Amino acid sequence: VDVLVVGAGIAGCSAAALLAEAGADVVVHDTKGVAAGASGRNQGVLQHPVEGPLGELFDEALRLHREVLDLPDAPDGILMLGATSTEGIPAALRPELVEDAAEVEPVVRPGIPAVRVDTGWIVGPQTATRAWARRAERAGARFVVGDEPPATAAGTVTLIATGAWTAGITPLYGVTADIDVRGGHVLEEAGTNAAVEGGGGELFTLVGDVLGASASRERPDQEAVARRLAARAEAFIGPVTVRATRCCPRPLSPDGLPLVGRTGERAYVCAGHGPWGISVGPATARIVADAILGRADPPERLDPARFGLQQADRTVRGR
Ligand SMILES: Cc1cc2nc3c(=O)[nH]c(=O)nc-3n(C[C@H](O)[C@H](O)[C@H](O)COP(=O)(O)OP(=O)(O)OC[C@H]3O[C@@H](n4cnc5c(N)ncnc54)[C@H](O)[C@@H]3O)c2cc1C
Repeated sequence: VDVLVVGAGIAGCSAAALLAEAGADVVVHDTKGVAAGASGRNQGVLQHPVEGPLGELFDEALRLHREVLDLPDAPDGILMLGATSTEGIPAALRPELVEDAAEVEPVVRPGIPAVRVDTGWIVGPQTATRAWARRAERAGARFVVGDEPPATAAGTVTLIATGAWTAGITPLYGVTADIDVRGGHVLEEAGTNAAVEGGGGELFTLVGDVLGASASRERPDQEAVARRLAARAEAFIGPVTVRATRCCPRPLSPDGLPLVGRTGERAYVCAGHGPWGISVGPATARIVADAILGRADPPERLDPARFGLQQADRTVRGR
């Protein structure tokens, strides 16, 4: 098959790699470039989503990530600051109550209780996507950047992987800031998942030296949000200096599950990973690649038709 992948984020790059390795003739088109969207502007952690239905995709995605990234066996770990109960956290993630987080993570102020969860590999915002793009190129995929989509032969299959710019997906903006403090664990204020999965708000999180997390339906003033996040960080890690700020929408689907599968005769979609795309993206890429190659149908729960997304909706919104 000939495949045009639209969007060079984690979804598009990992699908392109898997398709090209299976013998497909793959072109990836992105108006802005590799990792220009959320896949270059996230907080940079591969982690089990802890709650919710995406957890089962994570193990497969981690296995695939290990093929392109040199990840240690043991995760860096997450410290949920202020949490005092392990209820609802899967036992496989070995949740542990920590009386004083400063005893296991020196950047945290003394006296803050936490729950430590055994997941979370800190890789940096662009690393995984760039590694998948390199793998795709090695397998023969070609990348075209610019406003003009490449010409395609009749019969070409289109895979829409345009993240928050995909029809049927809602943008939830997040601001991140590079700061002068680096944590060894992933640090997050209790309640972060609910905020970034659609609840909205501004909470303290730190992944390496990348501060977050904000979540808003409208594009915010990123410098103002970064200042507020830095002020919020003070209670957990002391004063910080902001070196750079970024803003990007997370691609939210109506039910929190990505849309993965066929939308028309030669049209497929892989989008809507919300706050978890770097962590689970390659697993959904494998599912959509298998569907395109006629190897296996995607699971029904990911079927884009659950929201009536059919042929007419396969176009992407303007940027
Ligand atoms: C602040 C923030 C922090 C996050 N932190 C994490 C984290 O630590 N761990 C994690 O797992 N996930 C995180 N996420 C979520 C993750 O970044 C996303 O789920 C993931 O990057 C989405 O990948 P994608 O490939 O679907 O979309 P994107 O990476 O957004 O890629 C879509 C691409 O499509 C291109 N495009 C758009 N329209 C067109 C068009 N018409 N033609 C051609 N190209 C087009 C864009 O330029 C873009 O490059 C975070 C997200 C945000 C915003």
